[in-house]
Amino acid sequence: MSETKVYEIDPKAIDEEILKVPAKVLKNGGTVAFPTETVYGLGANALDEKAVKKIFQAKGRPSDNPLIVHISKIEEIIPLVKEIPENAKKLMGKFWPGPITIILKRSHRIPDVITAGLDTVAIRMPSHPIANKLIEKSQVPVAAPSANLSGKPSPTKAEHVIHDLKGKVDVIISGGSCDVGLESTVVDMTGEWPMILRPGGITKEDLEEIFEKVEVDKAIEEGNRDLIPKSPGMKYTHYSPKAEVVIVEGNIEETVKEIQKLKKEKEKIGLRVGILCTDETKVLYEEGVVISMGSRKEVTTIANNLFAALRLFDEKDVDRIYAESIDRKFLGHAVMNRMIKAAGYNVIKLGR
Ligand code: AMP
Ligand code: MG
Repeated sequence: MSETKVYEIDPKAIDEEILKVPAKVLKNGGTVAFPTETVYGLGANALDEKAVKKIFQAKGRPSDNPLIVHISKIEEIIPLVKEIPENAKKLMGKFWPGPITIILKRSHRIPDVITAGLDTVAIRMPSHPIANKLIEKSQVPVAAPSANLSGKPSPTKAEHVIHDLKGKVDVIISGGSCDVGLESTVVDMTGEWPMILRPGGITKEDLEEIFEKVEVDKAIEEGNRDLIPKSPGMKYTHYSPKAEVVIVEGNIEETVKEIQKLKKEKEKIGLRVGILCTDETKVLYEEGVVISMGSRKEVTTIANNLFAALRLFDEKDVDRIYAESIDRKFLGHAVMNRMIKAAGYNVIKLGR
């Protein structure tokens, strides 16, 4: 592929003249990586099949994993879907723009390559000012998965995107860090009640504030690995650093003790061990590659740091990562969902 242009844009003072350039690239069938409030996305004109195929190619994404279509105003959803049920309107009214994607019946305008042949389409309206303005200026709906190589942790900083995709896409917009740091919540709104297909920035608890009932796809609950997820992307291993990740779960003291023990054992046989921990426990580990995700009291910080921390271990060249688990409340649900996938479901449960 040809050269990738990188544009720096300050999200707090967007230079609209510069932004016009990637907007035009999008409209004309090119690929543009840009920041959103969840993670960086790799966009292409959603109505241009050839352009959308470039996304799959650049990422090495399996073609059976459908893409989310991004819009800049609520009314732009109308031509993309068959109908908008009342509950979907309610959800959009409350949480858009923001980190939640809704699944509705697709209209004929959506190319098959986007939906991987499903009769539904995933739509989101991001709140990040660069994402929002870029889509508006491109004058087209923008298909955009996370801007990482398939299987790697999602990018939360421009440097992650440059590392994975420079030379493979037309433009990268460098626009600071992403607020949430995890991908959007995916919610199927085609049934009577919302059904969460992927946990994310908007939590089940947030949805329960406006809906009497909120369902969760059983296949994404732990212990149901044999069920097929309704969201095709959830079946893949994901978010994986080079090293093998093992999660240790139990009360905090037991967890620290077990990780210390495992670290010693593995180092004895010559492995380099990394530890993914929290601010509260960091001092308890002797020196080595010890990275904190943040304080257990601030799950938003942990969500924000998780992917960058996983990528940092790649630079430190460790062979094995032991990770502490965190509480699955609120955003902790999405954090643990991503961690468990990064670990390929390798969890040591203590005290049971
Ligand atoms: P990414 O943009 O990389 O975060 O991935 C998008 C996620 O949305 C993947 O898990 C997809 O499987 C999911 N997704 C996209 N379209 C649909 C759809 N029509 N039905 C269910 N899940 C979808
Ligand atoms: Mg992704």
